Amino acid sequence: MKDNSTWLNILDILKSELTEAEINQWLSPLNIKTLNGNPVILTAPNKFFKTWVEENYLPLIKKTFKDNLGLRSDVDIVISIENKDDQTIRTVSQVERNTTTTDTTFDLPLNKRFTFDNFVVGTSNRYAHAACSSLISGKTTANPLYIYGDVGLGKTHLMHAVGNEFKERFPKYRILYTTGESFVNDFVTSMRLSKLDSFKQRYLNIDLFLCDDVQFIAGKSRTMEEFFFTFSQLYATQKQIVLTSNTSPNNIKELDPRLSSRFTSGLMVDVSTPSVEEKEAIIKKYIEIEDLTSQRFSDDIIRYLANNLKSDSTREILGATLRIFTLASIDNEDITIQFAEKHLKDFLMKRDKSLSPDSILELTAKYYQLKVSDLKSKNRSKTIALARSIAMYLIREKLSLSYTEISSIFSRDHSTALHAVNKITDELLSNHELEGTINLLLDKMKLIN
Ligand code: ADP
Ligand code: MG
Repeated sequence: MKDNSTWLNILDILKSELTEAEINQWLSPLNIKTLNGNPVILTAPNKFFKTWVEENYLPLIKKTFKDNLGLRSDVDIVISIENKDDQTIRTVSQVERNTTTTDTTFDLPLNKRFTFDNFVVGTSNRYAHAACSSLISGKTTANPLYIYGDVGLGKTHLMHAVGNEFKERFPKYRILYTTGESFVNDFVTSMRLSKLDSFKQRYLNIDLFLCDDVQFIAGKSRTMEEFFFTFSQLYATQKQIVLTSNTSPNNIKELDPRLSSRFTSGLMVDVSTPSVEEKEAIIKKYIEIEDLTSQRFSDDIIRYLANNLKSDSTREILGATLRIFTLASIDNEDITIQFAEKHLKDFLMKRDKSLSPDSILELTAKYYQLKVSDLKSKNRSKTIALARSIAMYLIREKLSLSYTEISSIFSRDHSTALHAVNKITDELLSNHELEGTINLLLDKMKLIN
């Protein structure tokens, strides 16, 4: 049974958890193929889509089905038959290689792609990375290791990297990777079936316990009690525990205080949003790992993506990279800035349409009680020259025009704007009066509609 209104409902609900861009680009193109049955089957336009959605959104989709339709069924994604011959399948064959293992020693499979080698280390994740790698080398006794931060910043990747590395170095180790949510489900099911004993066995008979997104257990008192029990037993027998969460233990609402005190007792490290340079490095690494080399990503394009994507989530940044690669492969087009702009609309920072070079000129002129024509004139009196430089600086800051474009607004030689902007930038470091003026002008700009 096709049921697209159900899918639209699900998308509506997901709006509270995902950005509009993610929904439009990755989830809207899916359809429900069968709803009555186990598993529920969704169709994706090509293999590429399927892999990306499975890796990034499937747990959330499953949860939404369950919470809102009461469906206990699993959810599978298949490629829609009409598109089976899709060209992209061939062009992106690298991405399709097996990324998960069905090894039965894991509660949930580890993603083989999430390794230390594939992880780009930068200031945003340096400590988290160091803490994870020191677990492997046995240089730390941090227990539990608690990694926290916003979505899409590499927590799950690091956790899988720990699991993958342990598995390789210590094949005898019993590793259990699960999520807070899966733990809740497992517990509830075990209770219902009166199988609490085997539940306990499953979680105690291990050497390394990896629990991703542990915040999900909060507010569920019986589950928290059981988690506390599991945790304490593993801890007492010196088994390594690694947890991730979207926030620090004290900020998790309705978390049993006994748990938050346990969670804070080991080593806590956070991951923060990557800098532009880190974003560039991550995009480059991703292109290399996924072998997205059949279409050329120039350094300019990579810098453009790092600078202009509105989300700081690495997941979204890589999703956008993958998207333009796929589209360029299908159309066999070069990846240019225009191409990216056209196809990544939802992902890009919205420029404030009401702001224009003209409105910035007017505002600056008015502040200095000058006319716009004064700013554009050749007059080099001190006030006019300063106001002109400030206007150039603001146009660059707010509209990201090139220096040549800015110079031409003032009918100047192409490097004029570059010098003016640099001068203001330098001056701002020490001149508080100038800083005040600029902040005031920036505030006024916010009021322009
Ligand atoms: P989180 O669990 O924090 O929400 P994930 O670990 O799922 O985030 O990361 C989202 C995506 O971004 C994954 O595809 C992951 O491989 C990638 N990623 C995140 N940080 C990095 C990094 N520093 N280097 C390489 N890839 C990264
Ligand atoms: Mg995660």
